[in-house]
Amino acid sequence: MRYCYLLVVMVFFACKSTQPVATSQPSIGGPAWAALWQQRAAEYRALCFQAYQLAGERVEVMSHQQTLRPRAIVTDIDETVLDNSPYTAKTTLEGKTWSQATWEEWTSKAACDTVPGAPSFFKYAAEKGFTIYYVTNRLENERAATLKNLQRYNFPFADNEHLILSNGNSNKEERRDAIAKKYEIAMLVGDNLGDFSEDFYRKTPAERNAAVERLHELFGTRFIMLPNAMYGDWLSALVPKGANADSALRKAIRTE
Ligand SMILES: [Mg+2]
Repeated sequence: MRYCYLLVVMVFFACKSTQPVATSQPSIGGPAWAALWQQRAAEYRALCFQAYQLAGERVEVMSHQQTLRPRAIVTDIDETVLDNSPYTAKTTLEGKTWSQATWEEWTSKAACDTVPGAPSFFKYAAEKGFTIYYVTNRLENERAATLKNLQRYNFPFADNEHLILSNGNSNKEERRDAIAKKYEIAMLVGDNLGDFSEDFYRKTPAERNAAVERLHELFGTRFIMLPNAMYGDWLSALVPKGANADSALRKAIRTE
């Protein structure tokens, strides 16, 4: 009888230890991992500081050089100066993907925090005589909330004249060209290669890599790149239009 009791106890604990823990929480996957990294990894913060530190050193050097025209710095906004990781985290945990409606619901709150290093860099660049242009693919109806969010952190030149939104065209080349008519564009800051040059716009992954190799000397000098693992052209280049994202990404990932 005693052995029988022991056997029952052993079976009970053996079963208990191998059973999965029941949970009602959805598993964290996909872009939420990237959002978590951007929110919690000190390494992400360090990379952002590294980028802006380098940008500051370049501005210091350039400020001693004479130019014929006034100088401007062209910067992207999302994941370059403002942090939208709570939006990505929330939509992913709710099992949703990006949509213009939920995006605008988020941006209308003007609740983004800043990307580490961005506020102090842009204030420093403005003090050194550089004009800042915010060239973003946010839309016109996001203008007021975007300015409010930038002004909340005292970003310089956060006004209607220097906020260049998208008219629906995600290619920023035309908007950069318009700025270049009046200014010498001394530096471009972004988290997406399309923030720098048309050479990267709507290209295949192989073409994007080849363009980066060809222009590698511009990174850290003219182009200042911020990390963003949540989304971007790197991801859309891997998923052809209309393709199933999961199977396209499984096909793209290397396992050896
Ligand atoms: Mg961006």
